[in-house]
Amino acid sequence: MSLDFEIGRLRSRCVGCGRCVRVCPSFRHGGLNPMEVMQGGEGNLDTCIGCGCCSEVCAHTNPAIVMKDLIARARGIHVSQVFRDTGYAMSPADDAPEPGWTGDGVQVMPGCVVKAKVPYVNLATASALRAMGFGCRELQGNTCCMHPVQFREMTEDERVHYKRVMGDSAGGDVIVTLCGGCSDELIDTDVPAEHIVQFLHRHMDRLPRFDSPVRVGLEPGCSVMKHAGLMREVVEAMGCEVVNNTMGCCGKNTPVSNPLMDERERECEGADWIVVACPMCLVKFDAQPEGIPTVHISELVAMAAGDRNSLGYHRIQK
Ligand code: SF4
Ligand code: SF4
Repeated sequence: MSLDFEIGRLRSRCVGCGRCVRVCPSFRHGGLNPMEVMQGGEGNLDTCIGCGCCSEVCAHTNPAIVMKDLIARARGIHVSQVFRDTGYAMSPADDAPEPGWTGDGVQVMPGCVVKAKVPYVNLATASALRAMGFGCRELQGNTCCMHPVQFREMTEDERVHYKRVMGDSAGGDVIVTLCGGCSDELIDTDVPAEHIVQFLHRHMDRLPRFDSPVRVGLEPGCSVMKHAGLMREVVEAMGCEVVNNTMGCCGKNTPVSNPLMDERERECEGADWIVVACPMCLVKFDAQPEGIPTVHISELVAMAAGDRNSLGYHRIQK
């Protein structure tokens, strides 16, 4: 199916209800209007964050995929040589710390952003799982989950192939991901997967606890927002007090990122740490000037177990 055909097919199902507009973080800050784009308008595609909030609420079609396809078409985006060489959308970091996987047990899929930008999250994940009494390893042959825009150049069958290979590599075990985009992509293809927040919630009885109360701001990130309630229960089970009632999108690398990040930092005022569940959010929060120190949920579990090794890799030090 060509991109143009897919765009037309999905656009034709839009009933113009406006639900996507009401949840679009970009629109709220002067960015594109997803309904207008779905109705055939142009819109400023550079301001689409790719957060997927529109598709979460749309009962008729898939606006986030249309935005992705329009972006791929407008920018002439192709599958990169980096992916062909490494299997990831970005080059993996060459100075990644050795995570200390035990070699068996829980099969972890890090995802491209962890591999390339925040490899220390692997270190913390292995430490957290060991502290909870689980063996763990990095999923053999893991690749990109096929979520980034560049993969819209591939056919659906080609994308599914990569995901199925990872499912086969896990041998039927549930793959635990560190990024909500990865788990969503795998589940869409019927590959058993769950985000680490779901895994931690299923095993709350094994979570370590902080000795004294820790105040945290919860920012799951768009792709993990549906598990915000589980995430709250996980951090509370570790002895944390949640300071914020609202949460939202980091804006990734779009023109609407600055106002969104200001909003995030403001709503977490008073927190000792912001806790995210998305590696891209971690990159954004850790780059925020004067920002509140931020950790991935795996790092919070490692910290509660007494291991703060990953924190040395952060830009914002506490
Ligand atoms: S894309 Fe979906 S949510 Fe948005 S206006 Fe169309 S039907 Fe409604
Ligand atoms: S993906 Fe996010 S930013 Fe883009 S149109 Fe949908 S809700 Fe708006």
